[in-house]
Amino acid sequence: MSLKMPEIDAGMIARRPEIVAAMRVLLPEGSTSTEEDRLRVHKADGLTAYGELPLTSAAGEFYATHRAALVYCLLSNHLGRVRMKFCSAMMLAAALCMGAAVTYAAEDAVETHQRNAKDAAGLDFQGTLVRTCIAPVPLNPGGGGGGGGAQKVPDRSTWYAEPAKVYDNLYFLGTKIHSSWALTTSQGIILIDTLYNYAVEPEIVDGMKKMGLDPAQVKYVLISHGHGDHDEGANLMQQRYGAKIVMGGPDWDAIEKTTMPGGTPKRDIVGTDGQKITLGDTTVTIVATPGHTPGTLSFLFSVKDNGMPATVAYSGGTALQVIYRDIAKLNGYSDSEKRFAKLAAAQNATILMSNHSEFDNAYIKARLLAVRKPGEAHPFDVGTEAIARYLTVKSECALAQAERLKRPNS
Ligand SMILES: [Zn+2]
Repeated sequence: MSLKMPEIDAGMIARRPEIVAAMRVLLPEGSTSTEEDRLRVHKADGLTAYGELPLTSAAGEFYATHRAALVYCLLSNHLGRVRMKFCSAMMLAAALCMGAAVTYAAEDAVETHQRNAKDAAGLDFQGTLVRTCIAPVPLNPGGGGGGGGAQKVPDRSTWYAEPAKVYDNLYFLGTKIHSSWALTTSQGIILIDTLYNYAVEPEIVDGMKKMGLDPAQVKYVLISHGHGDHDEGANLMQQRYGAKIVMGGPDWDAIEKTTMPGGTPKRDIVGTDGQKITLGDTTVTIVATPGHTPGTLSFLFSVKDNGMPATVAYSGGTALQVIYRDIAKLNGYSDSEKRFAKLAAAQNATILMSNHSEFDNAYIKARLLAVRKPGEAHPFDVGTEAIARYLTVKSECALAQAERLKRPNS
């Protein structure tokens, strides 16, 4: 059997428990801490450093002799039956060599992507993990918002949330479930997402007034994507206050074919990748992230926390229900998330926002601010590493679903 050495990425090693488990077998006696092992592997820079880790003599001998085969087995994502047998034998030999047992479960690509997503989700992004990895299929078949027809207004007590000032220049106007944000500038207000029709008046119009803001000062309305939970309020803002609506081209095309509750807004501005929406002293950069819908837009912009500037990465569309049977679109979604992650990192974005509280805990976090003491961290400021993890959850769950579709009888 000829063995091809795969490329090794230290981060990938650290995320794979079976490799960490095998490393533990091969590491010096007394080194039993999982965290220590993980850190060690994480610090390792590819195979060179991996090979330089001090080993006990028995393991060292085995490892030195069979390193290529072991590494191949550990990193191979698509183990065939023969390879699986071979690798199991290798792992058993390694384990026997140390008198220890190694649990080695061969996993397929779906499981690998799911595990990557689960590892990235940690304890802070479980809502996103559940919706995109565990339940990527429609929760309400035929749902998804944006369509016409009679709309049932849910009981107000199930969704109404008080508005909140979240940053010096950013106000939460969302419900318990969906978000809308007012970004104030030196020359008016930029509104981001507009909720369902039933919520626009109580949450956005009245919410702004409660916050001392004038809804007539809204000059732009940015719509992350054309689904009813984010775009139904747009028509009211356009008709009553003359605000210019910005939406991705394919989503304009889609909503123009429907009769939206609250009315379908007329096309103002087609948001495109890299476009900058500037109002007074504030600029929002649009990042096209096709996936959840073909015209989904994400945003990068700056806010101030007691005068200190920080950058927001606003992730525009999340669930996979519309595209969950389409491998090409799932791959496109994943590519969008990876690209947005790069751009957010390049801007040193530390604040994460989504348009569903299920994904970014906006409703909880907006209320947490009431007990924030001077000097305490801002609950929305999760840091660059967490934003990267969040976007990895989305990307990996889309890839898991794409791989799932390749399974027979999927
Ligand atoms: Zn949507």
